[in-house]
Amino acid sequence: MEPDRQTRHEWTAATTAFVEDFVAGLATAPASDLEPRAGQDTFGAPPPEGPGRLGDLLDRFGDAAHQAIETAGPRYFAYFPAGGLYSSVLAETLAQTVNRFTGVQGPAPALVALEQSVLRWLCDLFALPGGAGGLFTSGASVATLAALHAAREDRLDGPDPLGTIYVTEHTHYCVAKAARIAGCTADQVRVVPVDAELRMDAAAAADLVARDRAAGRRPFFLVGTAGSTSTGTVDPLTALADLARRENLWFHVDGAYGGAFQLTERGRRLLRGAEHADSITLDPHKSLFLPFGTGVLLVRDERRLRAAHAADGDYLQDLARDTGPDFADLGPELTRGFRGLRLWLPLHLHGVDAFRRELDEKLDLSELAHRELSADPNLVVPLKPDLTVSVFHSPDGDAATELMLMRINATRRVYLSSTRLAGRHTVRMCVLSHRTHRPHVEEALAVIRAAAR
Ligand SMILES: *Cc1c(COP(=O)(O)O)cnc(C)c1O
Repeated sequence: MEPDRQTRHEWTAATTAFVEDFVAGLATAPASDLEPRAGQDTFGAPPPEGPGRLGDLLDRFGDAAHQAIETAGPRYFAYFPAGGLYSSVLAETLAQTVNRFTGVQGPAPALVALEQSVLRWLCDLFALPGGAGGLFTSGASVATLAALHAAREDRLDGPDPLGTIYVTEHTHYCVAKAARIAGCTADQVRVVPVDAELRMDAAAAADLVARDRAAGRRPFFLVGTAGSTSTGTVDPLTALADLARRENLWFHVDGAYGGAFQLTERGRRLLRGAEHADSITLDPHKSLFLPFGTGVLLVRDERRLRAAHAADGDYLQDLARDTGPDFADLGPELTRGFRGLRLWLPLHLHGVDAFRRELDEKLDLSELAHRELSADPNLVVPLKPDLTVSVFHSPDGDAATELMLMRINATRRVYLSSTRLAGRHTVRMCVLSHRTHRPHVEEALAVIRAAAR
């Protein structure tokens, strides 16, 4: 199991060759290829008793990886395309090689400080105060669970069937899921109406909170979405922050998709109000282009996150635990990957401005897409994008829209997804990958125009 130097060299060279071919192939790879490959019947095979050959296994992995929607490629416009930064891939290899324990800071204090520096930078980006802190998670879903748990401990002193949570129909379902995992019933999640632009109606939220209080409920958690999943719409964060302050609600900003746009001028204007949040989620595996598996939770007061999660065991008595952030005390995990390096290395290697410029380019490309789609007489464009999600449908109804999306994706030149808005089947096109540039967007628009005819 511990290869010698020569074997390490051979394995690494073979893996590097695979990686090189894969990345180089992304420019021309089909946007989707879900046809079964020849090796299909071996994918379910159990492991052998004796050793295999790495070359054969890389072949099998390659076959399995190629039967997929090309989420890493430049023509992926579905859901939230991140691409996956190569520098982050290298960071992960380094982190896994040194294999340090970073669940508490004692065993590798300088690595924890390095991870903490990225979290501090993100807190500063959102102008959170000195006592703010945070945690890298597997994604926004787990970050939301930790935030909701902390909020309930802080505002309600623990579970209470009368505690209520405020969302809209466009809030990501991870909030309702977190509530369910935390033992809340469905009626504890209150759905506030949205306005014509699909933003939470702050006055309606205030009404609902007041009515709930009058009925003896205990409102405690208000979610403002900074970039909704269906349309990238940003809720009125300043008005919601005011409501939260007046009503002593924990104000959670879901920036899983939109949060990173805080790096840009335009994003900062839209996200005004997020600086008042008690917690913010953002997903580096969306808008900071990282490979899947990295989310972030930021909290205004780290002590509240710690109060909700800190635990101890006799077996941890040898670890120094009072001089820095112990990530195990801030979320559900003890042993964890050293996730911070996945973002630290790209930020330091490319520089912050490279990220800002990428995001600004995506905003520009999304404006271009919106303009072109709106000008097409065969399409209805119901909404102007806040960020980089454009939505459109056929004027001829749901069946025509579904057929149009099927035609678009059947070209295998681009891949888009759909949602429902006001009950209507609606196609969405999200420009976000760091590999997506103007020619790819123009290609997508040409494919869409042809399918709409
Ligand atoms: C993707 C998304 C989530 C869930 O994040 P995961 O990283 O997939 O767990 C939450 N909120 C919004 C707005 C999202 O777009």
